[in-house]
Amino acid sequence: MGILAGKRALIVGVATDRSIAWGIAQAMHAQGAELAFSYANDTFKARLEPLAASLGATLLMPLDVQSDEQIDAVFARLARDWGKLDILVHAVAFAPREALAGSFTANTSREAFRMAHDVSSYSFTALARGAAPLMAGRQGAMLTLTYLGAVRSIPNYNVMGLAKASLEASVRFLAADLGPQNIRVNAISAGPIKTLAAAGIGGFRKILAHVAQTAPLRRNVTTEDVGNAAAFLCSSMAAGITGEIVYVDNGYHNVGISFDEGGE
Ligand code: NAD
Repeated sequence: MGILAGKRALIVGVATDRSIAWGIAQAMHAQGAELAFSYANDTFKARLEPLAASLGATLLMPLDVQSDEQIDAVFARLARDWGKLDILVHAVAFAPREALAGSFTANTSREAFRMAHDVSSYSFTALARGAAPLMAGRQGAMLTLTYLGAVRSIPNYNVMGLAKASLEASVRFLAADLGPQNIRVNAISAGPIKTLAAAGIGGFRKILAHVAQTAPLRRNVTTEDVGNAAAFLCSSMAAGITGEIVYVDNGYHNVGISFDEGGE
């Protein structure tokens, strides 16, 4: 029996079969969870349908996280169809492309700042507010995805780094607020993975190559690596872990200086 047997999870953020959220969905399904999915718009709906069907999921709902009405509708539907929720996975981020390249100072407009923070940070708190009542009396777990750019400067990551810093702070505040209701809130800080969202970041291929050369495990992480850690964090095996940013990055964030193999 899997570590998530009998649990019901809402997965927000599957765009393609390369999405981190898809790796998480597969791992959670393998561990026995029943899944519901959301999609950002009709283009993503068509892509999601066969993926969701392959994991036996039938509950698919539209959700643009910038819409309070759609957020309310998702949790009303879950209340009606499931009546309870054990796990919320938030794997959503967006910033205008022009803000994710070149000079941080020159390219961070007020609108790019607002958009990045609304979609990539505020949305987690908004979804947590909708999910918490459905987790009452259960061992709820909420999980979001962040990146090293929250705590270090990374070329081109720019305004998204600020949004991730805000998201990481929200993990701590949500954990404190919802802990008395036995709801745990954590984030995975994933190493770079080639996805649709990552393709919007200038020079992403260079980041991938640098990390593969420098990380202690000398490779990039996969969506399977992240998915397995996510399944653990949302299971009762992690019952004592909340408010944490867990790095799933092959150890990259711990490195100060690294020489190539055989280097001196
Ligand atoms: P992805 O493109 O597969 O997923 C991003 C998702 O965000 C998509 O499903 C998209 O539909 C959704 N989204 C964007 N705007 C939305 C909106 N307004 N409403 C609802 N959904 C919206 O890319 P990914 O890399 O799997 O990203 C998932 C999460 O992982 C993001 O938070 C990202 O910042 C984070 N992350 C990614 C990496 C990486 O290298 N790929 C590393 C660390 C963290």
